[in-house]
Amino acid sequence: MEVSDTAFDSRLVRPDAIPGETETEYSLRPHTLEEYIGQEKAKNNLKVFLEAAKMRGEPLDHLLLYGPPGLGKTTLAGIVAHEMGGQIRITSGPAIEKPGDLAALLTNLEAGDVLFIDEIHRLSRQVEEVLYPAMEDYALDIMIGKGPSAQSIRINLPQFTLIGATTRAGQLTGPLRDRFGVTLKLELYSPQELATIIRRSADILGIDSTPEGALALAKCSRGTPRVANRLLRRARDFAQVMGSGVLDENSARMALRQMDIDAEGLDTLDRSVLRGIIEMYGGGPVGLETLAALLGEEAITLEDVCEPYLMQLGYLTRTPRGRCVTLAAYAHLGLRAPTQASAYVDESFQLSLEDES
Ligand code: ADP
Repeated sequence: MEVSDTAFDSRLVRPDAIPGETETEYSLRPHTLEEYIGQEKAKNNLKVFLEAAKMRGEPLDHLLLYGPPGLGKTTLAGIVAHEMGGQIRITSGPAIEKPGDLAALLTNLEAGDVLFIDEIHRLSRQVEEVLYPAMEDYALDIMIGKGPSAQSIRINLPQFTLIGATTRAGQLTGPLRDRFGVTLKLELYSPQELATIIRRSADILGIDSTPEGALALAKCSRGTPRVANRLLRRARDFAQVMGSGVLDENSARMALRQMDIDAEGLDTLDRSVLRGIIEMYGGGPVGLETLAALLGEEAITLEDVCEPYLMQLGYLTRTPRGRCVTLAAYAHLGLRAPTQASAYVDESFQLSLEDES
């Protein structure tokens, strides 16, 4: 089955579709827990909670998902809506500017619906306060009038499930975090899991793939399905135009080379981060904002996109005084590491240096 990449009004066709996504994106997105690859721990927990909620005829408890971008938080929210037979309404913390915006969203929900709020840590305090009674009692408290004659009236809401997604659970306020019944952390995927995702996506896109080709792309996908699917789409172009038409190891490697992605999956920005710290700050420590200014990037991009992967590979460490590269990073870039006395290998090494001085 070949699918097109044109935008389509998915909401008219499928209740679990994400507004604005293309037909290709919709088709690649798993729609059931069985299709959702990896994240076994989160998935097994969710299965039990879904089953229990269905048995009791209640909506699923409010759910907080956290982990770096592209790991499948929105997808999982769509699956919950699908399993509970409801629709998914998608919004994000920064998009809800006023309490009235949230009230409008809440009053348009139907029983069993899922309200998905991405970047929930960015909700304003006033908006958050509207969310508390909505989450606890399925109710909305509205003030009518002003001054001494002001009156508060309570509107009942349908029983819905709030799914909040965040890249940083630590930035959620305590009262909001406490109102989530379930918190699930999504982990970076293993190359084997990503290879399975790539082969599934290749099937859907109508391209033959070999296990070696899929694994070559998977190893460079930074543990992230969104990256894996993006690399697959580019590799498909190379396979079809310059290769045998099959995603094999050759076409995968050709595509990775053309996209400047190295053997460990680092792209140009990742390498600039490491080089910036090494060349301008002698290996670190350097503050995130300073580094972002040096590279002309948003600090949040470095923190959410580059750092989790560089830290997972052991090329970067976070210390109280800033970011430091490790000796492994020098080796990866083919650079000669400074003598041990000046290298900040990791926090403990750094602290031991301070102790000695
Ligand atoms: P997030 O909301 O965490 O940023 P998404 O849910 O939008 O991530 O996922 C990004 C893409 O990766 C989705 O379009 C989907 O096709 C794919 N994807 C995510 N998780 C999985 C998974 N577990 N199995 C297969 N594909 C996945």
